[in-house]
Amino acid sequence: MKIKALKGVQDILPDDIAQWNFIHEKAAKIFSRYGYKQIIVPIIEESVLFTRSIGQQTDIVEKEMYTFVDRGNRSIALRPEATASIVRAYLEHNYNQAGLTKFFYSGPMFRGEKPQAGRNRQFYQIGVEALGSYNPFLDAETLSLAFEYLNEIGIKNFNISVNTVGSCEDKQNFSKKLKFFLRDRKSCLCDYCKNRYERNVLRILDCKNKECGKILKSAPKIIDCLSRDSLRDFTIFQNALESLGVDYTFDPYLVRGLDYYTKTVFEITHDKLGAQNTILAGGRYDNLVEQLGGPATGAVGFACGIERLLLAEKAETFTLNREKKQSIYAIGLGENAYKKIFEIAHNLRRNSISVHIDFELKSLKAQMRQANKLNSSHVLILGDDELNKNSIMLKYMDKGTQELISIDSLIKIIKKEIT
Ligand code: ATP
Ligand code: MG
Repeated sequence: MKIKALKGVQDILPDDIAQWNFIHEKAAKIFSRYGYKQIIVPIIEESVLFTRSIGQQTDIVEKEMYTFVDRGNRSIALRPEATASIVRAYLEHNYNQAGLTKFFYSGPMFRGEKPQAGRNRQFYQIGVEALGSYNPFLDAETLSLAFEYLNEIGIKNFNISVNTVGSCEDKQNFSKKLKFFLRDRKSCLCDYCKNRYERNVLRILDCKNKECGKILKSAPKIIDCLSRDSLRDFTIFQNALESLGVDYTFDPYLVRGLDYYTKTVFEITHDKLGAQNTILAGGRYDNLVEQLGGPATGAVGFACGIERLLLAEKAETFTLNREKKQSIYAIGLGENAYKKIFEIAHNLRRNSISVHIDFELKSLKAQMRQANKLNSSHVLILGDDELNKNSIMLKYMDKGTQELISIDSLIKIIKKEIT
């Protein structure tokens, strides 16, 4: 029986790798402009790190974590996200004594969700975390970084939504108010929300069900139940976004699925992605560092789903502004010429030039076909005749011309051609 990849996990095939690398390279470049430094954290952690940070009563912790018991009888989890790990590393390596600290990361995350377009069980995220400040200008800087990043990788049809969920206290007060409001209307909520009512009532605000939407229209809104401090921060945040020219919409129903968010939350959706249209999401999490055993520390971050970025780019029939890579296809006809071309290919590669050669003794015609298929910019042809004269035929594929050159000058000529 053939073994196939698991449900909800994907191979990223060579055809997508140029795009994949472009997305990562741009991220590293732009994030570092804002003072972010790369960090690589482990894929496995103690399960308790996530249950304590993301929240016991969230979908991720309740049903989506991949956990196992290791040989030492410890409960280990494949990370469902990276923020908790980064806060753990931040504390473990005493970065909290260094003032504002900015990390960026990328890598696979794991959640046992129902697989569908744009929703996988192993998916990749690029993200940033800025730890060590409560200033709402930092929230604005973080979201404007996301905005600049998406622009720079050429994504156009995206929309930014922002909201505030208030401080921890605000959240608790508001949850009580919302629960009170929904108490007599519970029977009209969808099944999910009936369940959320007990476990995580704030999430009801985010429900896409029409009936729930109708009920919520007259429900209290977080924005009207904020402390003065939270409202002030939200206003500063919005004004700062405006000053930077970041277009956004205020969405009073936006909440996030993880418990640790406080105050600012935001989400970026893409117009052409269907149901799973959130490409980037984040916000402030002022209590998480403390929850994980550190001192009270303000922090903001976001995570961006790479597979969804790729889908967004495809939906926009996105073409990369990549330079066409030049490469050589080297053909040796006959035993001696083949041995020589094998050596020549090696020397060219040592001189940083990309070379393809054939290993199946195909005909000249078949190899030329292959060179075309590989989009080779030049073809080298070496037969016994050429070899006897210590020369080699160089074909310029763009121009359709060719010239006989000496093998001794080959590297110099090719290097001049291909820079
Ligand atoms: P969603 O709205 O898709 O459920 P989420 O609220 O779980 O997302 P986060 O945990 O904040 O989102 O993750 C940030 C980003 O990571 C998402 O906006 C999305 O682009 C991506 N992402 C999250 N879960 C998945 C998944 N299962 N498959 C692919 N991408 C994902
Ligand atoms: Mg989710």
